[in-house]
Amino acid sequence: MKIICIGRNYVAHAKELNNEVPTTPVFFMKPDSALVISNRPFFYPDFSSDVHYELEVVVRIDRLGRSIEEKYANRYFSEIGLGVDFTARDLQMKQKEKGLPWEIAKGFDYSAPISEFFPLKQFKDIHNLSFKLDLNSKTVQDGNTSLMIFSFEKIISYVSRYMTLKTGDLIFTGTPAGVGPVAINDRLEAYLEGEKIMDFPVK
Ligand code: MG
Repeated sequence: MKIICIGRNYVAHAKELNNEVPTTPVFFMKPDSALVISNRPFFYPDFSSDVHYELEVVVRIDRLGRSIEEKYANRYFSEIGLGVDFTARDLQMKQKEKGLPWEIAKGFDYSAPISEFFPLKQFKDIHNLSFKLDLNSKTVQDGNTSLMIFSFEKIISYVSRYMTLKTGDLIFTGTPAGVGPVAINDRLEAYLEGEKIMDFPVK
């Protein structure tokens, strides 16, 4: 499986990092070795001193598809969850300055903790889902999918023009404003529609 991540999909987050608001989706990838499941700890890497959390809604693809039309994109996913797109911001800044790829800053081991996934039919409206991240019991990110620049369907349509989507692929759909650093011994708790679905430590 592959993990596709959308960058700059919330206006306030693009602005907090001094990025332009994109007119087409920006995406990058993480390897499957980045995944962390079942609330296992995030192990802080020794090659960075500025690792940031980015809480994101994640969709799981459940059908093979390529060049999917936006109006049919809803047929290609039936479950949703949350994930943290951990980013070595110091390494990413260096790569960005030189115009080099981001994988070193985004695809390292443990950089993609995910929650369990839940059937879409459990939610009233996936285009109006609240999600939030607490860091040491203080809310640091408070997002809503209604603020996405590119919808789930638009993202699936766009990405599938370039790469075939397969069952089990995950798409991280971008983070809202409020990203910031984590430190060893921090605790992260993530909520979807008010329900806590992630709770893990930084070690
Ligand atoms: Mg992100």
